[in-house]
Amino acid sequence: ESKREGRNRYSFFDHELDRRLKRKHTIETELRQALERNEIYMAYQSKNDIASGKIIGFEALMRWNSGVLGPVGPFEFIEVAEDIGVINELGEFALRQACIDLQEFQKFSDTTLKMAVNLSIRQLNDDSIVDMVAKGIEETGIDPSRLELEITESLLAENIDQILPRLERLLELGTALTIDDFGTGYSSLSYLTTFPVSTLKVDRAFVKDMVSNEGDATLTHTIITMAHALGMKVVAEGIEDEDQLAMLREQNCDIGQGYLFSKPLTQKEMEILIETHELPETTGFKSKHFRI
Ligand code: C2E
Ligand code: MG
Ligand code: MG
Ligand code: MG
Repeated sequence: ESKREGRNRYSFFDHELDRRLKRKHTIETELRQALERNEIYMAYQSKNDIASGKIIGFEALMRWNSGVLGPVGPFEFIEVAEDIGVINELGEFALRQACIDLQEFQKFSDTTLKMAVNLSIRQLNDDSIVDMVAKGIEETGIDPSRLELEITESLLAENIDQILPRLERLLELGTALTIDDFGTGYSSLSYLTTFPVSTLKVDRAFVKDMVSNEGDATLTHTIITMAHALGMKVVAEGIEDEDQLAMLREQNCDIGQGYLFSKPLTQKEMEILIETHELPETTGFKSKHFRI
């Protein structure tokens, strides 16, 4: 009896493992050709001034609509892209497209808008990153002070010595540096004073329960106070409801990002949002709370 059960269970796991390996293999194969097949595009999520609600910028988020697998999320494919060595190409595409689209978005707004692009650690492990960003700035004609580079805290913490010189050269180009997912990286805080970080982005994990969990509210408050004392701005990510927004406003958080303001949208949808402050019904998402 139990032997048979064991065998069945084994074959279940075997099957599951097999399925995952197959999917990973397909992702590896398909991802190599995704760019040239135009399956990769950038989505944009707004960053809003917390006090006024106004859109002040965007984060560019990569999307892959695979002909074979359908939509695959960045949590799944970015790591594969690093492993198979296509992250630099994808990163170059992201930066250029984001700079081009920012200039389109700007046509619909009187506020000087900024664009944030995510960089993965593999991209920063390579000297070519500096030339890539410099070339992107030059060829798209974007004002570099309107370009922000987002780097996840945990990755920065692990590799600070190697990537510091490269980050310095990126900053010399005139770009700004944002520490992403701040508070989850278990890092020493000393890099915040030795390095010109312009913005801290409080991880969604703290925002999620801050209204019901006093500890999380204390953490967001403390991060905001510390950042301001060091001359940095704070973005709160993952704001989904009015209560979180109200509390962050009380805590003097500068900038908000999250589904309450906008989901990641296509370039066309974002243009409509900036122009009309309303999303078309076709997006399946209508922000009732959107203001200004
Ligand atoms: P991230 O940079 O921390 O981006 C924020 C993630 O949170 C995005 O997921 C976004 O869609 C999601 N998000 C935003 N607001 C809310 C909200 O209110 N509620 C919830 N539940 N989620 C929200 P996404 O687009 O799946 O991206 C995941 C991660 O993939 C990003 O995390 C980033 O680390 C990475 N990534 C995305 N695009 C790129 C890229 O172009 N290059 C690189 N190197 N990494 C990228
Ligand atoms: Mg980010
Ligand atoms: Mg996060
Ligand atoms: Mg983040």
